[in-house]
Amino acid sequence: YGDYNQKIDYVFKVVLIGDSAVGKTQLLARFARNEFSVDSKATIGVEFQTKTLVIDNKTVKAQIWDTAGQERYRAVTSAYYRGAVGAMLVYDMTKRQSFDHMAKWLEELRGHADKNIVIMLIGNKCDLGSLRAVPTEDAQEFAQRENLFFMETSALESTNVETAFLTILTEIYRLIS
Ligand code: GDP
Repeated sequence: YGDYNQKIDYVFKVVLIGDSAVGKTQLLARFARNEFSVDSKATIGVEFQTKTLVIDNKTVKAQIWDTAGQERYRAVTSAYYRGAVGAMLVYDMTKRQSFDHMAKWLEELRGHADKNIVIMLIGNKCDLGSLRAVPTEDAQEFAQRENLFFMETSALESTNVETAFLTILTEIYRLIS
C-alpha cells in the first residue's frame, strides 16, 4: 500500500562492500524489509533493494546494492560502483581480518567511485560482544584518519541499522541539496 503516484525527488545509490560473510546481505534485509535470516544466501550476482523515505520533506528512494557473493571471486566490477553516491564499508567485529581488509576495500572504492562519495565504516555483529576482535577505538581511529562515518551495528538484533542508513542518506542529501 502506499501512494503509487508518489513523486520521487531523489534516487540515491548506495553500495555495500566488504569481505564475504560480514553481514552485508543481512544488513540490507534488515533495513529494507526488517528481516533477518540465519542461513543467508544462495544466489550469486549483483542485487539491490530499494526503500523510500522522507528526508527534509523530500521523497528519497534509497537503492542499496549488495555484492551478493561477487567479492568471493574478487569480481566486484566497476559497474557495481557506477553512480554510487554512498558506500558502506562493512567488517565483522569478531573477525580481525575483515577489518584489516578495510584499507584494501577503501582503495578499490576510491579507485572506482565518484570522489564526493559519502562513506561509512560499519562494524557489524555487535551482538557478539564476547567475541569482539576489533576494539571500537581502532575502528574510530581508522575512520577519523580516512574521513569516514563510523557505526557499530547488529543486523541480528537490529542495533543501529536504521540509524546507520539514515545517517549516510541524510549526509548524501545534505551534500547534493
Ligand atoms: P555477506 O556475505 O557479507 O552478505 O554476509 P551475510 O549477510 O550473508 O551474513 C553472513 C553470516 O553472518 C550469516 O550466517 C548471517 O546470519 C550472520 N550475520 C549477519 N549479520 C549478523 C549480525 O549482526 N549478528 C550475528 N550474530 N550474525 C550475523
